[in-house]
Amino acid sequence: MKITVIGTGYVGLTSGVMFAELNHEVTCVDKDENKIKSLLYGKVPFFEPGLDGLVQKHLAKNLKFTASLSSVVTSKAIMIAVGTPPAEDGSLDLKFVLEAVNQIIPYMERYKVIIMKSTVPVGTSKIIEKCLLNGGVKRKNFDVVANPEFLREGSAILDSFHPDRIVIGSNSQQAIDITRSLYQYIECPVLITSNEAAEMIKYASNAFLAAKISFVNELAGICEQYQVDINEVARGIGYDSRIGPHFLKAGAGYGGSCLPKDLRGLLHLADKAGKKSRLLKAVDEVNANQPSTIVEKLEKLLGPLQDKKIAVWGLAFKPNTDDMRFAPAISVIEILLQKQALVSAFDPVAMENARRLLPPAVTMAVNMYEAARGCDALVIMTEWDLFASANIKKLKELLKKPIVVDGRNIFSPAEMKFIGFKYLGVGR
Ligand code: NAD
Repeated sequence: MKITVIGTGYVGLTSGVMFAELNHEVTCVDKDENKIKSLLYGKVPFFEPGLDGLVQKHLAKNLKFTASLSSVVTSKAIMIAVGTPPAEDGSLDLKFVLEAVNQIIPYMERYKVIIMKSTVPVGTSKIIEKCLLNGGVKRKNFDVVANPEFLREGSAILDSFHPDRIVIGSNSQQAIDITRSLYQYIECPVLITSNEAAEMIKYASNAFLAAKISFVNELAGICEQYQVDINEVARGIGYDSRIGPHFLKAGAGYGGSCLPKDLRGLLHLADKAGKKSRLLKAVDEVNANQPSTIVEKLEKLLGPLQDKKIAVWGLAFKPNTDDMRFAPAISVIEILLQKQALVSAFDPVAMENARRLLPPAVTMAVNMYEAARGCDALVIMTEWDLFASANIKKLKELLKKPIVVDGRNIFSPAEMKFIGFKYLGVGR
């Protein structure tokens, strides 16, 4: 099938590549011409393991990249995967979605399915429908499908080919059939719902995952008071099939482009409907406070931070990505700078994005050991394998003081103590 995917970010590009692998004829469109130029050379402009290889495999065959929307004319399905950043009031900003919808209007002479891949608030399908009708598109020429994405950055390819479920929200059988056939070789449960339920499923999934993390972080704080290891507790509760083992890692809090904004998006929806959600608000508050708890641990071990030099290992919001959106490391570094500490930072892949986001006062080190050299303490903010396999004896020699605050619990407290570190993790 011919499909145009609008937006070649983490979601759009991964989806485009997956559809190409499933033998569809795919055109990926982005308004960022630099992104398109890079993709035409077979180079993915962000870090996502495995994506480069698949782009190169299909490039100039059944996968095209362009900044022009003309392929919409001959496409049966138009997938919108543009960003939906948070607005000031906590809602999701639909400006890129509506921009894309308005841009396809001139090409809507024949029937097409508009598939919303971006995460959007409940009611967005109706807004898109109205927008197309107001733009003069005949009702018989389109259906809008809500088809949320659940992939995780860092394992986007695996998640796309092996999703837990595919959700197709539509009341049009024709649109459902076309969307289903796009995914025809993917084996997983397929849920057909209303547009609104599909939109809500995405919000609800992310809010629930965020709640699991905030729950375990809150519990970690209690465990610390009773000398209980949160990892043992998480393992113990995770075996309960009603709870499950995932998203129970205590740490510096969640970040990224999805959980924080989608949770707040749902909170905003609840507020708008006059339904105050105390639970969702608490989830957000617990998470927002995690970076401060990391700095408090540092002060506990090191004393006042003014003029102290602190190494930060890990800047991306999680390993295997260069995405810095809402990364807890940014908040920790901001607090450290407010307290007039000096910061030396390193991340294996997010340095370029970090340079754009962090104040120039932060020293960007060439590797993890250089970041630690001469520092009064080390804080770990991303659980990269590289850090977990670091030579900790060498680390101890490089640090001015053997102090480590492990915001991702990657080291064993007993081993760190044995080597002579003053070490604090989260909930251990
Ligand atoms: P992104 O910021 O990485 O990419 C969005 C792309 O859309 C950018 O390249 C931008 O240039 C392009 N774009 C914006 N307006 C455009 C237009 N009018 N025409 C053409 N291109 C346009 O975003 P992302 O992380 O891929 O997220 C996309 C959506 O998917 C969001 O709604 C997000 O919440 C959702 N989502 C993201 C993830 C994730 O892990 N990143 C997972 C599930 C769902």
